[in-house]
Amino acid sequence: MASDNNVGYPAQIAVGLITDGLPEIQTARCGESEGFLVSNLLIGDGFHWQQCREAFVPGSLHHLSPPQGNIHVVNMVDIEDYVLSVISSEMNPSAPLEFLKAHAIISRSWAVRKIMEKGESEVKGRIHADGISVDWEESDSHHGFDVCSDDHCQRYQGFPARIPEQAREAVESTRGMVLTAPDNSVADARFSKCCGGRTERFSSCWADADMTYLPVKEDSWCDLSDLTETERVGFLDTCLRNFDRKTEDFLTWSTTVDKVWLRDNIIARHGVDLGEIISLEALERGGSGRITRLMIRGRRGVLTVGKELAIRRLLARDCLRSSWLDAEDCGDHFRITGRGWGHGVGLCQIGAARMAREGYDFKSILEFYYPGATIRSFG
Ligand SMILES: [Zn+2]
Ligand SMILES: [Zn+2]
Repeated sequence: MASDNNVGYPAQIAVGLITDGLPEIQTARCGESEGFLVSNLLIGDGFHWQQCREAFVPGSLHHLSPPQGNIHVVNMVDIEDYVLSVISSEMNPSAPLEFLKAHAIISRSWAVRKIMEKGESEVKGRIHADGISVDWEESDSHHGFDVCSDDHCQRYQGFPARIPEQAREAVESTRGMVLTAPDNSVADARFSKCCGGRTERFSSCWADADMTYLPVKEDSWCDLSDLTETERVGFLDTCLRNFDRKTEDFLTWSTTVDKVWLRDNIIARHGVDLGEIISLEALERGGSGRITRLMIRGRRGVLTVGKELAIRRLLARDCLRSSWLDAEDCGDHFRITGRGWGHGVGLCQIGAARMAREGYDFKSILEFYYPGATIRSFG
């Protein structure tokens, strides 16, 4: 991997592009940048916002041989262009400047850490025993490229047709800045859409390790109930992408899970028929309230599932908003009431954008969500 003048700091990142079928690509320009137009980039793979989009990606492309799933091409892109694309893809690039700066720093940190630590860490976790299935998946599970283009890693949907000035300024003014842990390593700067009112610890979602800078803490910033309806709508319109804007209920939400469907989904995902489903029980919860071990009892057996993403995938066709939930038995279905959108670890995007709206700068935002971490510049 090429490096700039700073030892160990990567100049480029290799992004595996997820496409809907074989990639449809042609050369293109976007302003000053040369690159490619990808007609069928798949976004939100397996989530409720899944769709296909056209995207301009800067840099160069090469084929991945052999292809991995729906990844056929790898985009080599300048790390700062990658950060610009990520902050414009994760959130609306018209979001408040100080929020975009904070996001640029954590997205850069996350990417740099992935490149630097490639191949060093455990790629996947799995505990399987009779009646127990606990899985988690790390993004290091990629081979032949550093990160994928979707929510599994960070959203990378190329450059928007018009890049707002504050998005460019957010990247330029934080160029080379990363968040570092107390031991001076690049911080594992996780983030999610909405914590739901309390952030979650790392080990509830991934490996059994916790970092002091990713604590469980109360977050009132993502509760927008003190805003008027006009203020709330205006704030969310400037912060969220159109496809995320359709998700109205993210702080608290409710849904139903059909018991027959759940029985079939358990057969499909875990290869075990529990018979008629009787109950859902939270055996263990993380610090926020997210369930990390869910016991499903059927007439023919019992299955315990974890961690949080495996639970979300088990309970909804397009992945439940979060595993911070309670289930009520309603006969042929369960009524689920829940909080938050995403794993809840690290920065809460909606809460952080709200902090910026109220006048907090990027340093205060990062101090709030990653206490004890410090900003270090490679510039
Ligand atoms: Zn990935
Ligand atoms: Zn929050």
